[in-house]
Amino acid sequence: MEAAHKTALVAGAGGFIGGHLVADLLRDGCTVVRAVDIRPPEEWQQRSPQAESLQLDLSASDTCHQVVDGVDEVYNLAADMGGIGYISQNQARPMLSVLINANLLLAAQQQDVRRYFYASSACVYPTIRQTTATVSPLREEDVLPALPDGGYGWEKLFSEQMCQAFTGDLGLPTRIARLHNAYGPWGTYHGGREKAPAAICRKIAEAELSGRHEIEIWGDGEQTRSFMYIDDCIEGIKHIMASDVARPLNLGSSELVTINQLVDLVEETAGIKVRRRHNLSAPVGVRGRNSDNTLIHAQLGWEPSTPLREGIARTYEWVRDRLAS
Ligand code: NAD
Repeated sequence: MEAAHKTALVAGAGGFIGGHLVADLLRDGCTVVRAVDIRPPEEWQQRSPQAESLQLDLSASDTCHQVVDGVDEVYNLAADMGGIGYISQNQARPMLSVLINANLLLAAQQQDVRRYFYASSACVYPTIRQTTATVSPLREEDVLPALPDGGYGWEKLFSEQMCQAFTGDLGLPTRIARLHNAYGPWGTYHGGREKAPAAICRKIAEAELSGRHEIEIWGDGEQTRSFMYIDDCIEGIKHIMASDVARPLNLGSSELVTINQLVDLVEETAGIKVRRRHNLSAPVGVRGRNSDNTLIHAQLGWEPSTPLREGIARTYEWVRDRLAS
């Protein structure tokens, strides 16, 4: 559907990805973007003045019916989530996000929304497939038999299944992206919900600004991950939403690095060297995780491609500017 004639609801618009998506949909010429988050707009990571910005709790059924009224597309990015520090210490709270997806799906189906996007996660994949740093990239079909990563992963897997059942039984067209770690400007970089790239940028920027060149790293730093720059994430969401692919697709970078290599890159960007203090009792999550992009490439002729070095340079500058001001 042409953006110029489209009305979109972005749930979780106050968050990192939601804020970028709202700005991007408006740039594309989307007629109305209804931006909703449980937090007050003044606390949102990024806010677009042209959007209709509302503070509402989307776990309530009547609220979902209210915000879905008159929209063509729903993007569900609302979730109670955070980095490994948050999701390893909170099981029940992330699971309650199931209420948001259930109520938004029902409202979307009953009000004949044209298309529904769900932001799933690589945490749906079985932890037993992620026990070594030299892990095989995760293919979409690896998801079963299920052993997802904690309460957060179980909620994502159930919500994926629910979206597919709404498509199969009730005819609501849904699209699902299994997001692997996304990072970039406007991401959370302090407070306990931040993820590794933002946390390391913050620690090294603090070291640079204070002159105390020492940082703490969680674990031995040999755990591996891939990190997707936010511009790729937004482009991927739009590609998946516009496609005919109803099954879940990985949306992540396949550039695998250890956390120690990520620190090397941030050091190079900052132009300093830091002493590394490894905290071996801090939460670290699975030992290795990477995205297999064979399916997204075959289906869409596209995959995330921003080199980590490039994305980290832009992210570091953004975090450093925030700390310096
Ligand atoms: P985020 O935490 O920055 O944004 C989520 C937003 O949802 C927050 O602003 C939060 O206040 C809002 N929210 C929570 N409960 C709500 C409720 N009841 N009603 C309304 N709003 C509510 O997270 P993000 O990084 O922008 O992630 C967006 C989506 O993508 C989430 O579903 C997340 O699980 C998924 N995801 C993100 C990543 C990543 O690396 N950022 C990776 C995998 C999956």
